[in-house]
Amino acid sequence: LDKEDVVLRVDDLQKRFGGLVATDHASFAVERGTITGLIGPNGAGKSTIFNLVSGFYEPDGGTVTVNGADVTGKAPYEVADEGLVRTFQTPRKLEGMTVREAMLVGPREQPGESFLQLFTDPGAVRAAETANIEDAHRMLETFEIDHLATQPATDISGGQMKLVELARAMLAEPDLLLLDEPVAGVNPTLAVKLREHIARLNEEEDITLCIIEHDMEFIMNLADPIIVLDQGSVLVEGSPDAVRADDRVIDAYLGG
Ligand code: ADP
Ligand code: MG
Repeated sequence: LDKEDVVLRVDDLQKRFGGLVATDHASFAVERGTITGLIGPNGAGKSTIFNLVSGFYEPDGGTVTVNGADVTGKAPYEVADEGLVRTFQTPRKLEGMTVREAMLVGPREQPGESFLQLFTDPGAVRAAETANIEDAHRMLETFEIDHLATQPATDISGGQMKLVELARAMLAEPDLLLLDEPVAGVNPTLAVKLREHIARLNEEEDITLCIIEHDMEFIMNLADPIIVLDQGSVLVEGSPDAVRADDRVIDAYLGG
């Protein structure tokens, strides 16, 4: 792959939690324009990789490059500035906020824990200034969830929350969007909607996506290539058909 064709490069990435090796010399690249699937058994280290590349965890070794820029060890808002934005497997705490307010919490820095950070983190404040109500509302319309704008963010369904997360991430104008289990716990009707929106972002808005998904049917029909993680490193990478037929992948899932 040429340098400019790679939006994310992970090289020899390592992360330990005490004695547990969560990321074990992982290396892979996400090609611009693709929907790349990241799969693997529970505990394989998929979410950890997302946390490492988006600046939420600091790696013990290795490098992360986004659009050619070394972002290893950078803060989430700095990584977002290079074009990489992520959503969370478990939506963040949004108590006391309406959907519209949740959309306005600094999209580029993705505070995660508390609204307070918006006022204490200079990066967050800068990011918040760039978001505005009209942009947020337009984005909610694009995702067909503008009718939820004044609802408490904690009162909407899990699937609707996933759509809000997607809309919020898009406010940051990413080149690469990382989605952690976008259809987990989502009803089938909304899962179809999510799929359509993801395909639209890729085809019409030139967004590259890297998607962790447990639902094998969903990911195999949406993503190409598929990267299989096992025990913190890349086991296999290839087309959905190649991955499906690979004995090592079958063994990893049975063993896990
Ligand atoms: P996956 O998303 O593939 O299911 P994770 O990346 O969440 O896997 O976890 C990989 C391993 O790292 C697991 O054994 C998990 O318990 C461990 N792990 C992940 N995050 C932490 C953390 N913050 N502290 C301690 N252990 C963690
Ligand atoms: Mg996970």
